[in-house]
Amino acid sequence: MKITFLGTGAAEGIPCFGCTCPRCQAARRGEGHNARRRASVLIEAAGYRMLLDTPPEISAQLDQAGIFDLSAIFLSHEHFDHIGGLVEFEYWSQVLTIFAGYEVLSKLPLTPRLQAKALISGFYPHTRLHFGGLTVMPFKVIHHVPCYGFVFEDEGARLVHFTDSGPDFSDLHRHLMKAADVVIFHTPTFEPHRSHVSVQRVISLVQELSLRRAVITHINHNNFLHEELVERVAPYGITVAYDGLTMEV
Ligand SMILES: [Zn+2]
Ligand SMILES: [Zn+2]
Ligand SMILES: [Zn+2]
Repeated sequence: MKITFLGTGAAEGIPCFGCTCPRCQAARRGEGHNARRRASVLIEAAGYRMLLDTPPEISAQLDQAGIFDLSAIFLSHEHFDHIGGLVEFEYWSQVLTIFAGYEVLSKLPLTPRLQAKALISGFYPHTRLHFGGLTVMPFKVIHHVPCYGFVFEDEGARLVHFTDSGPDFSDLHRHLMKAADVVIFHTPTFEPHRSHVSVQRVISLVQELSLRRAVITHINHNNFLHEELVERVAPYGITVAYDGLTMEV
C-alpha cells in the first residue's frame, strides 16, 4: 500500500493568508517543508487509487502530483478544509465515485453538474467496503460535526487514518490503533487543544499503546517549523508528514 500526502496543512494552510508570523513567512520564502497545503491523502493498493478528502487546493495538488485518474473519493466530514475543493470535480474528465457518511452527504456542496457526473454513495460506520483485495472501513471519530476515520487494509498491511479527531478516544479506537501498521493523526497544534488531537497527545498515545508507526499531518501555523517539529517527535518514532511525502506500508 502506497500513501502520498498531497497536502499536510490544517484549516488555514501555511502560509495562512493575512498572517505574517515567522512560520508563515518561512513558508512564503519556500524554506524546507514549511509550506503546507490543506490536508488530503492518496492511498494506492490492489490496483485502486483512493483520494481521502478534497481540500480547496485539490486540483493543483492532483495535477502537480501527476494524478490523472482516481478510483474513488472518500470524504471525512463537512468542514471547508476537507471538502472545499469538491466542486472542482465538475471539471474532472471521468465518471467519479464519491463515498461519504450519510450525515456528511447531506452537507456536501453538490452542484447539478457534479451530481450529473458523480456516483455518490453513503456508508455506515463499521461497514467494510471491498475493492478487490483492498478493504476500507469507516469509523466515527469525535469532532464538532459528524466525522469519520478510515481503516485501509490490503495484503495484511493496515493503515488507520483518524482524520480530524478530538483528543478523546474510545476503547475501540485504541484497539484500531494497536492493530495498525501506520496510524495517521491530524495535529494542528503541539500543545493540547480542546477539539483536536495535539502532537503532545500523540506522543502519549505512542508511549501508552506502543504504536508501530504514527504519522502527524494537518499542521497549523501556530505549531513548530517543520525541522523543529521533526526534532521534537523523532525520539518517539513519530513521522512528520510534509506535502509530497510518500510512504509504503
Ligand atoms: Zn481539518
Ligand atoms: Zn502564520
Ligand atoms: Zn474538521
